[in-house]
Amino acid sequence: MDRLEAVVQPYDWGSRYILAELQGRPTPSPGPEAELWIGAHPGAPAILEREEGLTTLQRVIAGDPEGELGRGCQERFGGRLPFLLKVLAVEKALSIQVHPDREQAQEGYTREEAAGLPLRDPHRNYKDDWPKPEVVLALTEFEALAGFREPEEAARLLETLGVQGLDAVVDTLRSGSERAPLDALSQLLHWPAEHRPQLLADVEWRCGELADDPGVAAEDRATFRAAVRVARQHPGDVGLVAALLLRHVTLRPGEGLFMGAGGLHCYLQGTGVELLANSDNVVRAGLTGKHIDVDELLRLVDPTVQVPRLHLVEVAPGVAHLETPAPEFDLLRCTVEGRCPLPEDNGPRLLLCLDGQVVVSDAAGQELELGRGDSCYASAADTGLVLTGRGDVVVATSGR
Ligand SMILES: [Zn+2]
Repeated sequence: MDRLEAVVQPYDWGSRYILAELQGRPTPSPGPEAELWIGAHPGAPAILEREEGLTTLQRVIAGDPEGELGRGCQERFGGRLPFLLKVLAVEKALSIQVHPDREQAQEGYTREEAAGLPLRDPHRNYKDDWPKPEVVLALTEFEALAGFREPEEAARLLETLGVQGLDAVVDTLRSGSERAPLDALSQLLHWPAEHRPQLLADVEWRCGELADDPGVAAEDRATFRAAVRVARQHPGDVGLVAALLLRHVTLRPGEGLFMGAGGLHCYLQGTGVELLANSDNVVRAGLTGKHIDVDELLRLVDPTVQVPRLHLVEVAPGVAHLETPAPEFDLLRCTVEGRCPLPEDNGPRLLLCLDGQVVVSDAAGQELELGRGDSCYASAADTGLVLTGRGDVVVATSGR
């Protein structure tokens, strides 16, 4: 087992308190801190100490894939740690985005490599050839826009706004075509630049009015309130109107959300643990200063993707998980009170202590102490893991 030093990603939508507080650093942090990465992604691998000195988890795994990952995991995922564990500290809405499936990622990556786009080029959509399914476990109330509303439901919401320019979009939504949600999204994202300021001003104004209107259903008011916040966070961005096509969800702490390939989404605010396939492939449509590729996004988005709210299910005493269809990972949450053995696993694992103080021990007698914000890595060879003490720990595994 190895203690890890996780990497903070300073994206501008992050908080200056959440991650610093979790890791026991002074607050506010000098700048926004959005994500804590615990994993072996080449973009920001965790750091650990071996006899030879400081190294990264990526290098350690590359040095002995079968020993580190176990044969089963290595055969399934080709020598790559299949998952990446993160903590998200969302203060401002993230971009509206979609992730590719495995085939789309391979095709997109090959295409951009062939075009000679350097990996760090901001116009790059595909940073690797992996899919990026993701599951979020809310630690606070966690607000998101996730998956399309039914076309009639979206039409009704836009109609409620009573903004004249949107009539054409409402008609599209009611066209009865299978592509109606995509066509409506395309219409909004291709809105003529010269007419955008008026559209955005009208929509923001009406959202503000309706957010406080007791005659409006509570669910719609929550959507409009979110829209007003988004408008202030991302002025001039037509993504605001596109966001209204998506379902508004507020997770309670302990609830989860799974996002599969093709699901359009935008995380709005809150703190959560995220477990995802080990990829950084994001195609964006708006609400961001990063590269936007509307055509590529429209190619990837699948309006039929459902985004169910997930609940933790106990799999062993003190250990619960979020059931998802992703083959790359499984997220466990352990409530440790005394002694808590982890389910047997013959693959790699990442552990993060969210609260309290626990000791992780294995069958060989190794012991590692984890306090709040500490993380560690256990290879396939580290068997018989047991947590003792009192604390709240999340564990990422390669699942089945
Ligand atoms: Zn995402």
